[in-house]
Amino acid sequence: MFKIEKEYDAVIIGGGIGGLMCAYRLYQNDPSLKILLLEKGRDIKERKCPIVMGKSRSCVKCDPCAIMEGLAGAGAFSDGKYIISLEYGGWLPDLLEHDLVLKYIKEADDILVGFGACKDVYEPDDELKTMCLRHDLHMQQARVKHLGTDANFKTMVNLIEDLKDKIQIETLCNVIDVDKQSHKITFIHDQKTYETSGRKIAFALGRAGSRSFKEWCEKNGVPLKNNQVDIGVRVELPWQVWAHFSKKIYEPKIKYFTKQYHDQVRMFCFNERGYVVTENTHGVLTVNGHAYKEEERKSQNSNFALLSTTNFTEPFDEPIEYARSVAHMANQISGGSVIVQRLGDLKAGKRTDTKRLAASSTRPTLNAVPGDLSLCMPKRQLDNIIETLDALDKVAPGTANYDTLLYGVECKYYSSRPSCHDFMIEGTDEIYALGDGAGFTRSLSQAAANGLIVADIMNKR
Ligand SMILES: Cc1cc2nc3c(=O)[nH]c(=O)nc-3n(C[C@H](O)[C@H](O)[C@H](O)COP(=O)(O)OP(=O)(O)OC[C@H]3O[C@@H](n4cnc5c(N)ncnc54)[C@H](O)[C@@H]3O)c2cc1C
Repeated sequence: MFKIEKEYDAVIIGGGIGGLMCAYRLYQNDPSLKILLLEKGRDIKERKCPIVMGKSRSCVKCDPCAIMEGLAGAGAFSDGKYIISLEYGGWLPDLLEHDLVLKYIKEADDILVGFGACKDVYEPDDELKTMCLRHDLHMQQARVKHLGTDANFKTMVNLIEDLKDKIQIETLCNVIDVDKQSHKITFIHDQKTYETSGRKIAFALGRAGSRSFKEWCEKNGVPLKNNQVDIGVRVELPWQVWAHFSKKIYEPKIKYFTKQYHDQVRMFCFNERGYVVTENTHGVLTVNGHAYKEEERKSQNSNFALLSTTNFTEPFDEPIEYARSVAHMANQISGGSVIVQRLGDLKAGKRTDTKRLAASSTRPTLNAVPGDLSLCMPKRQLDNIIETLDALDKVAPGTANYDTLLYGVECKYYSSRPSCHDFMIEGTDEIYALGDGAGFTRSLSQAAANGLIVADIMNKR
């Protein structure tokens, strides 16, 4: 039976890794607290994407989206790469002492290990970094764990089951407003409107909730900052091409500054012997990738994101809308799907059609529509992608082969960051923001750490 109290000591909005870690630590710090976690999506085991279940070949735009929304958040079906370094994964190191951020990342990792996550860590490799530098490619060095999509999912199930005994967790609860003064929280559950309140409140909405969070900030006069967007493609090729990197460091993350425009292009989110997948953010389809740990579920291809960074200056300040419209164009010309094109066809100015794709020696792992990326992606970003693939080919020959597959569009938009002091939102009393949805993080490890940090700050006040 669905029962909501009038008031809680703490209410966390959003049940991704940030919100879950925040709840976990709040309870750890003080088990007498009455804590409520409200999640828009379904319980973790009930999150079933029709594409993943084989019931649909293309996205039917479920609401809530089983991939992005639900307990365990956007990371539930992720590859579970857990970064134990500060080189990338978010902006917490810009806001806090580096040692402190690292301490929290390790604490969150210990919690996950307690619920079944693996202990093996891939260490940085100087030899590969040197080889990259000889070609003006800049490899980021980090310690990283690979939990694997399946093992990561099981770990999150265990964490959630444990938390359910300690705090109140309610799913399919879409929070539509939080009153800045009274702390009244309004949400929709089963088509009915409910109200509750929290002495302390944390927004942990993730990327799926970044738009509504931005609107809430605007409505409540909270200053926001954001100007960056990354747009590009998901690259898929035979796994052997990057095996000399992945054997040593698991995930190569490489930056390149293009000669033509002097723009930064990042290769990241590498999935060895993985799958390309679609992602639905507010009705716009983009691409992403993942990989399973179990041998029998591995594919013959590896994939990675290759994204070109744009920093807008005045007068434009809507980078998310810009990325959405580029992705939307790819959806439009592919009849509501995403596009796949061979690199050779793109360079030759030809559309990849069904016949050409069938002739490709690299077999696609995603059922995307063969098409022409040059019809939907801006020239600057497309030139950057091609130049970077040619540069990467020097350290991993085969990267720029004719049959390398490019899926579009992939974009990473970063949520607008609210003005905060110690993560407490400006002009509020004990309303906090954390994780990807607030523009502080962009990884499992930093979002998890951010959850722990905010819980400790709440505890001290
Ligand atoms: C396919 C994929 C693969 C990824 N792989 C990796 C990886 O290998 N390594 C890595 O470090 N990162 C990875 N990421 C990124 C990582 O998942 C995120 O950085 C991380 O999940 C952010 O955590 P979060 O708690 O801030 O937000 P989220 O995990 O997005 O959780 C936010 C939650 O809030 C809920 N919510 C939103 N609005 C409302 C509302 N109004 N009311 C109630 N609830 C709401 C959402 O439904 C969601 O469940 C991946 C992401 C995707 C999509």
